[in-house]
Amino acid sequence: MLFLGFECTGCRRFYPPDLLYCCSSCGASLDAVYNYERWLASLSAEEWLFRPGEGVLKYRELLPLRPSASPISLGEGNTPLLKIRNISNIMNIENIYIKNETVNPTLSFKDRAQAVAVNAAADLGLSDVICASTGNTGVAAAAYAARAGLGCLVYVPAGTPEEKLAIIRAFGAELRIVEGNYGDAYEQAAREALGRGAFNLTSTYLNPYSIEGHKTIAYEIAGAFGGVPDWIVVPIGAGPLLSAIYKGFRELRLAGWIDRLPRMAGVQAAGCAPIVKAFEAGDADVAPWDSPRTIASGIADPLTTYPADGTRTLRIIRESGGAAIGVDEGDILGFRECLAREEGIVVEAASATAMAALVRLKEQGWLDKGQSIVTVATGHGLKDMAVSTI
Ligand SMILES: *Cc1c(COP(=O)(O)O)cnc(C)c1O
Ligand SMILES: [Zn+2]
Repeated sequence: MLFLGFECTGCRRFYPPDLLYCCSSCGASLDAVYNYERWLASLSAEEWLFRPGEGVLKYRELLPLRPSASPISLGEGNTPLLKIRNISNIMNIENIYIKNETVNPTLSFKDRAQAVAVNAAADLGLSDVICASTGNTGVAAAAYAARAGLGCLVYVPAGTPEEKLAIIRAFGAELRIVEGNYGDAYEQAAREALGRGAFNLTSTYLNPYSIEGHKTIAYEIAGAFGGVPDWIVVPIGAGPLLSAIYKGFRELRLAGWIDRLPRMAGVQAAGCAPIVKAFEAGDADVAPWDSPRTIASGIADPLTTYPADGTRTLRIIRESGGAAIGVDEGDILGFRECLAREEGIVVEAASATAMAALVRLKEQGWLDKGQSIVTVATGHGLKDMAVSTI
């Protein structure tokens, strides 16, 4: 097994694999570590980037899992990288691609994390999972828990799209709707998970197992793109998707298969933009956001009790030479419609922020016309056709 354990992102203390959420010395979030030397001794770039098979567990060596004869999967990942021609012409940017995560089994990239999480739950001997969610994590957790035979309890904030609630119920999970925002749902889920000894799969940096599933997006992009795009543009709540993609590219560079890293752009709705605010102000730390209000419900995370998660993301954005971008409600709606009408891709509002951000990135001088950009389409529009507001 190449997975060694976790390192604290604050004080660097090492922890062997166990049911862990954060560092017991300093409270910072954890990051999975591997024996990279042994990984590289056995592989070529071809073998890794074009590995056959289904599901993210085909990359098991760099996932925090034990070898298993019968892993749980719904065939997540291996999503298409699509060249966007019509919007490229409209924006006068030549090389825009969409990594279309809306075609995952439950229609969002969150399946990658939950695939890893339910297999980790089996490794840890846990039979129940709990999460707080703006919808997509809950849907994914419910699906994988159903397949794995685990009990699943999902907390969502009031205002979460009805379609997401219906699918969570369809998978047989227990659903609790919290009066308040995502921060309130987070608190309740955390308390309940502790009380029940259940695995908390909330998709912040809380669960150091699940987040590793998102790295596989970087492996797939590098293979399909044939190298490293100049920019990866990602909608962010707390930002684990963005940082996991960056980690995946760092691993490929460590292997010597790519020679540089992409710049990372993190996108938030202006109505809930704690990370953008800190980025623009030049602050070292992210502060919680008071009253989130946006149609981009999937990323409406005010970071109420865990602003350090935002700081971890902010550091990665800066380290990559990237940017944090805020987009307003009109642009989100406009680009949601534009993606559907011009490119045949229906995304939810949170996901449309990534496309809307390209205009701002260009205006602010971050983008050149000839640069290559991959935006991640994170969630399918069918799960929020009414465009609910949080
Ligand atoms: C979860 C989610 C994101 C980003 O999430 P992070 O928590 O920052 O990783 C983006 N878009 C959609 C649709 C999501 O569900
Ligand atoms: Zn620590």
